Amino acid sequence: MRAIRPRRFSPSDVSAKVTSLLAPAFVHHDPLNVLASVFGHKAFRGQQEDVVRHVTGGGDAVVLFPTGAGKSLCYQIPALCRAGVGVVISPLIALMRDQVEALKQAGVKAASLNSSMGGDEQRAVRDALFAGKIDLLYVAPERFSAPGFHDLLSRIDIALFAIDEAHCVSQWGHDFRPEYRELVQLKELYPDVPRIALTATADPTTRADIIERLGLERAEIFTASFDRPNIAYTIVERANARRQLLAFLVRHKGNSGIVYCLSRAKVEATAQWLSGEGIAALPYHAGLDAAVRSRHQDAFLREEGLCLVATVAFGMGIDKPDVRYVAHLDLPASIEAYYQETGRAGRDGQPADAWMSYGMADVVQRRRMIAEGNAPDAIKRVENAKLNALLGVCETASCRRQAILAHFGESHPGSCGNCDTCLTPVETWEGTEAAIKALAAIYRTGQRFGAAHIVDVLVGKATDKVARFGHDNQPVFGAGRDIDAKVWQSVIRQLTAMGLIIVDHDAHGALTLDESARAVFRKERPITFRRDPGRKSAEVRRALSVSADLGPEAREIFEALRAKRAELAKAQGVPPYVVFHDSTLKAMALARPRSLDAMALLPGIGAAKLERYGEAFLKMLAQT
Ligand code: ADP
Ligand code: ZN
Repeated sequence: MRAIRPRRFSPSDVSAKVTSLLAPAFVHHDPLNVLASVFGHKAFRGQQEDVVRHVTGGGDAVVLFPTGAGKSLCYQIPALCRAGVGVVISPLIALMRDQVEALKQAGVKAASLNSSMGGDEQRAVRDALFAGKIDLLYVAPERFSAPGFHDLLSRIDIALFAIDEAHCVSQWGHDFRPEYRELVQLKELYPDVPRIALTATADPTTRADIIERLGLERAEIFTASFDRPNIAYTIVERANARRQLLAFLVRHKGNSGIVYCLSRAKVEATAQWLSGEGIAALPYHAGLDAAVRSRHQDAFLREEGLCLVATVAFGMGIDKPDVRYVAHLDLPASIEAYYQETGRAGRDGQPADAWMSYGMADVVQRRRMIAEGNAPDAIKRVENAKLNALLGVCETASCRRQAILAHFGESHPGSCGNCDTCLTPVETWEGTEAAIKALAAIYRTGQRFGAAHIVDVLVGKATDKVARFGHDNQPVFGAGRDIDAKVWQSVIRQLTAMGLIIVDHDAHGALTLDESARAVFRKERPITFRRDPGRKSAEVRRALSVSADLGPEAREIFEALRAKRAELAKAQGVPPYVVFHDSTLKAMALARPRSLDAMALLPGIGAAKLERYGEAFLKMLAQT
């Protein structure tokens, strides 16, 4: 153990925060004090305290909390309470800078060491480490195989190892990083240093794999519910995707958000079109020049109210707290992917929207991607099953949240009140007869035609194609006259989602019947359809702005504070949330503190930030 050195404040009450700044005292080991004085939070959240106490006491931990639960503090506070340096392994060098900057602003001695830094810069960090001037060190996993790194570690006290985004160690996860595999050696090389692995992965196979791959069998496992109650889920049947998206984005004027598309071309086209519609949008995909990509990512992090149109290449490790919406123009591959991608919204716990437009074309496209991929058949079967599970969420007439959580083995009573099916209940109808008619129309016409033609046959529409193939002589011709063509399209989409209809990609998207359709013909399998809600119902919801819950006066102050924050952030080249989170500004707009002492009571204002920004915001408030 190294000699005790002055490094932290120890206020026993909030007003002491202010004075403690003038007289930094001694090292103390109380997590709650660190939480209050450094991070400005009054209480731990959920199981944070259990994790913090366990790791501070030297135990290993596996932390499986959803995004936004507050995993960072689970290792940051133990690192500050224990002697030595907390070494944090984080996958993306590009994002370390902001993480370190946010800590520095809170008065924490943090640094990163990575290959993007120059020799001098790296040396300076090393010197600071040896001088005991660093409490938290961020590194990428590849550091552990870089020459000299273990030598460096052997010369300093290590408080703990934190393995962030720990799912990167697993091939089952969505972001496999082979370098993470090296981290298993930490157990052998540093048997006395506590290790804490953290991830927001909800799927049980990946979780088990993480524990095995990192040798954490004996660690304490902390799990929390994966529900993200502040995220509202909405899945709309695609009619005119662009118009629907625009209607959705109108509610998000001034908010930051992500629009996911499947292809690079669609990303480009969508970003361009949105810009033309007066929405500040930038594209992001792996095909863009690295410099352009990082410029767009930076803009998204630093500017407010930007819409980033991206492929799934964007998102991992982005801890921007105030992403207010995530929209999907195309269907993701699985519930796991959908959950991860939508999970990037609302980390700060404020209301956020997950919106998706979904249609028959998605089912066709995703099935084709699986069919044409070069995975072995066994994997393809798994991929199809994962897709089916997601289609189940899209087609459900019950609570979406319940369906998502059920997939992760979590039960939820349903009727969450914050998803489209809960807010606007969907009707269902007994559809066995209709299903038989649709399946028969496909069968009788030789399983060679696409959905549009099948619908024409069902409603008895005399098109050229119908005449050419003599389909008007079939008994099914016009057998579905009593039902609207739009409803037939919905029937075919739902039967496809159920796996009863297969789209044959080798035959230009012809619909064919799956083996399982037999049971429907025999009436052994009853079919229920959801009645697609009218287009308007999905859009009746109010505008969702961050300040929606403030009165007009507070909102005006909030906007002024936001402008002040933007100015301060810009001057330092940091994202606005590094200065203060929206929730802090909201609390400030409501409380309108007139003194530093009063300001110190607000959430998210620790001693360092109070000193750095307190006066500027007080002055601003004095003018209101
Ligand atoms: P995760 O890594 O689990 O996704 P973060 O560590 O980024 O979550 O925390 C999410 C948000 O919650 C951050 O804005 C953070 O400041 C806030 N937060 C974390 N713990 C607390 C707490 N105990 N009290 C108040 N806010 C908290
Ligand atoms: Zn619901």
